[in-house]
Amino acid sequence: MGLDTAWAVAFLHAAALSMAEHRDELIALDRAIGDSDHGENMDRGFEAVVAKLGDTPPESPAAALKLTAMVLMSKVGGAAGPLYGTAFLRAATALGETADVGPDVLVSALQAALDGVVARGKAEAGDKTMVDAWIPAVAAARDAATAGEPAAAVLAAAASAAAAGAAATEPMLARKGRASYLGERSVGHRDPGAQSSALLLLAAAQAASQQDSHAGSPESPR
Ligand code: ADP
Ligand code: MG
Repeated sequence: MGLDTAWAVAFLHAAALSMAEHRDELIALDRAIGDSDHGENMDRGFEAVVAKLGDTPPESPAAALKLTAMVLMSKVGGAAGPLYGTAFLRAATALGETADVGPDVLVSALQAALDGVVARGKAEAGDKTMVDAWIPAVAAARDAATAGEPAAAVLAAAASAAAAGAAATEPMLARKGRASYLGERSVGHRDPGAQSSALLLLAAAQAASQQDSHAGSPESPR
């Protein structure tokens, strides 16, 4: 079984919790090489996503991601709002109408999200941006799907590669976004957008593994 609408909703709730929990950490990362707003932007944006999910419950995984895109584009300022908005919108389009997202469609959606970020922000690998989390995430997801792994494992692989990718931005010199104004002084700090990307993919993976553990045992207490 793949990922369904309940997974998408659980993912977005988990994402909102994670952005709230890591708000200060993301603020501190953005303080070092930016303008300190990334944690607040992401927390506020996902809080608004959760509110919108309550108002208009989505009827497909794609609808959930599209709703997220719209909210992030309108509520999150800075560079990250439009970039994540584009990522969620492209991923929604790649999912199409399916109610059951399998590993191959999932990989297409992750690739589409990355392509959207690149189309919008024009960053390349090594520029010290969220792209440096997404590139290894998509590659790991593709490898897992090719190896026959189910969707939950594909997301787990993506999340752990994104975390490694975010950590790998620390020694990089920023060439895009606000951090690039710092030149050499950007070296030695982790990119905040790469870190939030890794956290979002982790939330997606955790929601999927919970869906898996519930599958087939609706009466089990956990
Ligand atoms: P701002 O830089 O406008 O304050 P945020 O602080 O919300 O916006 O987001 C900063 C993050 O956005 C960076 O850490 C980086 O990951 C990402 N980012 C900035 N510019 C680009 C770009 N051109 N391409 C990809 N990601 C980018
Ligand atoms: Mg900022």
